[in-house]
This record gives sequence, C-alpha cells and structure tokens, in this order.
Amino acid sequence: MYSETEANDLPRPPKDRRVEFLPDVTVFKPAGTPLRELDEEVLTVEELEAIRLKDLEGLQQEECARIMQISRPTFQRDLVSAREKIARALVEGRALRIEGGNYRVAMRKFKCRKCNHDFEVPFGTGKRGIEMTCPQCGDENVQRTDCKGHGFGNMPWGRRGRERDDG
Ligand SMILES: [Zn+2]
Repeated sequence: MYSETEANDLPRPPKDRRVEFLPDVTVFKPAGTPLRELDEEVLTVEELEAIRLKDLEGLQQEECARIMQISRPTFQRDLVSAREKIARALVEGRALRIEGGNYRVAMRKFKCRKCNHDFEVPFGTGKRGIEMTCPQCGDENVQRTDCKGHGFGNMPWGRRGRERDDG
C-alpha cells in the first residue's frame, strides 16, 4: 500500500495524450476589442492536436487515436470538445487561448549519418529539421528516422526534413 500523501505528492494525469504539435500562436482574438474585455475559450494542447489530425490532416479517428495513444472514445471526446470551443469562440466573438491539458510532447527521432549517433528531440523545441545538428559530433548531416507513414507532409519541418532526406 502506498500512502495517500505520496500519491498526492506525485500527481499524474490519468491519460496523457501524445502530441506532435505545439502551436507558436496561442491566443486568437476578435479584432477591435481589447483582450481583457473578451470572454475566453481555453483550448487544451491535446484538443488542438485532435483538430489538427482529424480536420487538417484528414485522418480517420482510429488513426488519430493511435497516433495520440489514447482510446477512440477519448479521442472523440477531445475532438468534440475542441470543435465546440472553436465554434463558440467564432459564434460568440470570444478570444481563443490554447493552453494546458493532459499531454506529453512526442519525440522526433534522428540519426547522424556521420557518427551513427541516434538521438531524440521533442516536437516544438530545439532546432527544426534542416538546422538540426548531431549532439555528439556536431555534424549537420542528420536524418529523420521516424517520419514514415502519417501526418508530417503538411508540417513545415516535415517538408524540410524530406528535402534533406532526398539530398
Ligand atoms: Zn554525429
């Protein structure tokens, strides 16, 4: 038995969604009204990811759930919630803030072609695609190794990574 105190000291969200995208822009507001006078809808990072995968990448719910490593009903709840918040912001003229949630940032995997060092960098942090250098030898000839199969084609760093892979 673990004490409740111990459990409380280490809070852990029950279902962390895996996300591959962290937005650069996190606040949207109607033009002409100061933010402080507006009501806000707060979209979580995983809700944005649900919208991105389903509505922008056009993937099936099953695949979205697999990518985010959650059940399909959980994915559907995130998606419905995201759409509702975005709809309310548009219809009622609210600001939209993207913030918080239960998620962990997926890792991008790379291999250095010079020294064969394998390394990982979280999405949305560090250098992007073409600017990536090997943390072990500093060489710029690194290759993305986890890019197969889904979703990356529309991402700016995905495109850059592909050009690099082709060269
Ligand atoms: Zn290297």
